[in-house]
Parts: sequence; structure tokens; C-alpha cells
Amino acid sequence: MKKRKKLRIKSWKRFVSYSLACLILISASIIGCGFAIAHIVTATESQAATSSDETQTALAENNTSSSETQSNALQSIAQNTSPTVTLDASEPAQDDPYADIKERLRNNDTEGLKVVFLTFDDGPTPYTPEVLDMLASFDLKATFFTNHHKGSDAAANYCRIVSDGHVLANHTSSHLYDFYSDPTLFMGDVQSLRDYQIQVTGVEPPKIFRFPGGSANANTACVQAILDAGYTYADWNVIAGDGSSSVPEPSVITQNIIDGCHEHDVSVVLCHAELKENTRAALPAAIETLLAEGYTFLPMEEGIPYPHQLEV
Ligand SMILES: [Zn+2]
Repeated sequence: MKKRKKLRIKSWKRFVSYSLACLILISASIIGCGFAIAHIVTATESQAATSSDETQTALAENNTSSSETQSNALQSIAQNTSPTVTLDASEPAQDDPYADIKERLRNNDTEGLKVVFLTFDDGPTPYTPEVLDMLASFDLKATFFTNHHKGSDAAANYCRIVSDGHVLANHTSSHLYDFYSDPTLFMGDVQSLRDYQIQVTGVEPPKIFRFPGGSANANTACVQAILDAGYTYADWNVIAGDGSSSVPEPSVITQNIIDGCHEHDVSVVLCHAELKENTRAALPAAIETLLAEGYTFLPMEEGIPYPHQLEV
């Protein structure tokens, strides 16, 4: 058996030096690894934290973006909501509860109908808001045959007639009969008011016309001119009786309107409620009675045949 050779330390001094060197190297390695691990852990945590922050920031930005989108949408809606009425052609038309009646009116199939067209001439005046309030209290729509009246109060009244859903109709700018002698001048008087109505209200009113004094005071040339320009013209078949300077008592006007409407399937009532106090006082009782009797009040529309004093 081979005898194992004994390990002898020849130089203790060299042994201690080597041992110390190894110890230092091992310690340095451990410390270095420790630093390296610590650095990696810190870096990972930092990256995770940064990622989390970025996620939160992104979410916050998304929320902000969402808020901004909603805000922009609301602003857009607000900007698109103008005081004038605009209809979206893509939306289906709302059901008109009077569609059947209007169809019969257009076809002149009026027997047994109980329809009233209230018409107010020569305004607007400072009393127009009072008339509009009265109509609103009954939820009724009417037709206002207006002339040209200047001033901010008049402008506000034209606008409210439209915004309340009534018909802003044409009764010439000047109300002068003189223009009947020249159809061109007459149509200029009609167009002048239409331009003013559009300028003041921002909307094009329907082409519904009443001759000053009625078509009986005009002539066939002017009637033809108004038809050629695309207007539907309307006279009346019921009078409140307030056209002259001597205005009847309110009770008489009320009875005039009720009795007149009883005589027709379709009544067009002429009155001057924006001018005459007694007419304003008379109207509520007349409306209440006729509503209770089953009458329907409608605003005028183009294309419906209304009473004519003069035809062509
Ligand atoms: Zn008039």
C-alpha cells in the first residue's frame, strides 16, 4: 500500500499571506455579488413602479380623454342647438295627430269637420305677447298675418310667434292698397316683408298670404302674381267684428266668433286681437266654448284651400 505523503507547510508566513489574499478575494466577490443583486432588485422594482405609474397615468389620460370627449360632445351639441328650429331629415317625422284632418282639408273633403283657423292681422304690436300667452294657456296654434313693424320689441314678437309654433304669415310690408295698381310694386311689398321676417327670425316662414283688405280689394293680376310666387292666400269666412273703429263689447265679439264657426265645417276667423282690447277679452270665452263643442284649432299650412273672395 502506497503510503500517503504528509502535507507539510514549509513556510507559515507564505501560508498566512495566501490565506488572507483568498479571504479578501472571497469577501470582495460576496460583497460584489450582493451589490449586483441589490442593484438588480432595485432596478426591477423601479421598473415595475414606473410601469405602474405609466399605467395609472395612461388610465388617467384615458379618463381625461374620455372626459374631454364628453365635454367636446356636449359643447358640440350646445353649439348645434340654435334658437331656430331645425329638423333632422334622418329622423322619422313625429306622428301628427291632425294628419287625417289636414289630408281631408287638402282634398276639400270637409263635410262634418269642425276646424277653426284663428288669424290675427296687422301685428305685431305691444299686445302680441298677451295674445301669445292666451293661446299658450289653451295650447293652441294660430296664424299671424303681420306687416313690417320696426324696433327690438317688434323683432322679439316676430321671433316668439315662430318659436311658440305659430305661423308667421305675410300681409305685405306696408299694408297699402296703392300697390294693387302695379303687380310688380305689389310683389315688391310682399317680398320686402318676407325678407324682413327672415332677417329678424332667421327662418323662412311658410308662403301664406292675406291681401290687405282681403282679395276683394285687390285684383286678378295681383292674385295671379301671388300664386305665381308660390303663395297660398287666405281670406276669411268668420269675422270677430273688430275691424272698424267702433269695436263691439267683448260678449258680442265672443258670440260673433261662436256663431260664425257654427255655420262652417272649416272656419277662418278674422280678428285684430293685437290691436283691439275687446277682442283680447272676448277670445278666451269663444275658444273655451268651441273646444268644449269638439272644434279643432289649427295653424295654416300651404296648399290647403282657404276661403277666397276673389279667384283667378
Ligand atoms: Zn290688415
